[in-house]
Amino acid sequence: MPSISFLGTGSGIPSADRYFTSMLLLVDGKHLLIEAGEPCVHLLRDRGNLIQSIDAVLITHGHVDHIGGLPALLQGAMLLGRSKALTVYLPEEMISPVRAWIHALYLTEEGLGFPLDWQSWKDHEAVDLGEGISVTPHSNNHLISCYRTLPGADASRHCHAYSLVITSGEFRAIFSGDLSAASDLSPLLTLPVNVLVSELSHFEAKELAAVLEGADLHALCLVHLSGEYADDRSQLQELMEELLPHVGDVMIPEDGEVLDF
Ligand SMILES: [Zn+2]
Repeated sequence: MPSISFLGTGSGIPSADRYFTSMLLLVDGKHLLIEAGEPCVHLLRDRGNLIQSIDAVLITHGHVDHIGGLPALLQGAMLLGRSKALTVYLPEEMISPVRAWIHALYLTEEGLGFPLDWQSWKDHEAVDLGEGISVTPHSNNHLISCYRTLPGADASRHCHAYSLVITSGEFRAIFSGDLSAASDLSPLLTLPVNVLVSELSHFEAKELAAVLEGADLHALCLVHLSGEYADDRSQLQELMEELLPHVGDVMIPEDGEVLDF
């Protein structure tokens, strides 16, 4: 049965009781780390051997609350003697700067002791992760007005943010990443969904409920909550259950919670 460990469920605003975004999806024996917000290396370490067993890291976009823990994860894997290859999937424009960042921290890819592979997402193109598991990135509008300002960057292109659809057999999960509006999810909801993990920082809960009306959705997990919702989670839960009677489960996971789907 697929499970998700909600390692960090906070938004980009530092919080005393929620870490930045990272989640571990365990499906058909594969361990997929979705987002690498701080302090994911510690949270994985807390749960045993996971730093060694992660198969891939899937980064939706380059905001620090989604990737800030990556260097520490790589260094931790090195220090713990990882030998298994690791692939990091991320937006294309991030690969060079992130590799330079790793280098600036006195880490070398050759010195890590395990093969590290960087792969850029290609919009709507499914990536085969083996064991019948695939992940398809769908670009959304979260970074539509963000332009790279690094030297040599093509100013006519905006930065990329993706929502991820992960499938294994009949199982279909959607990780929203950060969005510009709830309607960014609409094209992904035409097929049945076992679980949708959606952020709730950039739009109102009612907008999300409107988009989910008519969707064949078994479970909804709300994460990355804006302050207003984070302050009163039980009210949010009640509201969404009322607005979404057709959704089997509406959940607001705590950091550290593990849910089966
Ligand atoms: Zn975020």
